[in-house]
This record gives sequence, C-alpha cells and structure tokens, in this order.
Amino acid sequence: MLFAHLVADILTIPGEPPNLLNPPTGCRFTPRCPWATEKCSVEEPPYVEVESGHYLACWHPLTEEVRQNELRK
Ligand code: SF4
Repeated sequence: MLFAHLVADILTIPGEPPNLLNPPTGCRFTPRCPWATEKCSVEEPPYVEVESGHYLACWHPLTEEVRQNELRK
C-alpha cells in the first residue's frame, strides 16, 4: 500500500464516538481512553499549542516513549 508506513503510525482506540447530543462531561474521549483519570471525566482539557500550528487537548498527552511502546503492541 502506498501510504502503509503512514497508516501504521496512527493509534486507534476501541469503542464508539460519544453522543454529541449528550456528550460525557470532561474530555469527550474519557469513556474510550485507556489513560483517562478522574480529572479527565470532570474537566475538559484546554487546547494547547505544542508547536507552531499544532494543538492538543489532553490532560495526559503521550510522551514519545509511551507512543513508541504503544506502536510495538
Ligand atoms: S484528557 Fe487525554 S488522557 Fe484524559 S481522557 Fe482525554 S484523551 Fe484521554
């Protein structure tokens, strides 16, 4: 596949997207995220610019080390 090397680097999480008419409190990914904590279920994470033009909203963003370990599974 032409873009196989790119697709292999995308992490996926199990479960279904949240009901946007009745979203969970806090981070919308809390019910599906293996790293979710109590804080995630209570407070929505703010958008933070991590590098020029790249933003994330997560209380516990993956470090490069954790990301690489996840890709090995
Ligand atoms: S804030 Fe980050 S760690 Fe917490 S549930 Fe959302 S995506 Fe997962």
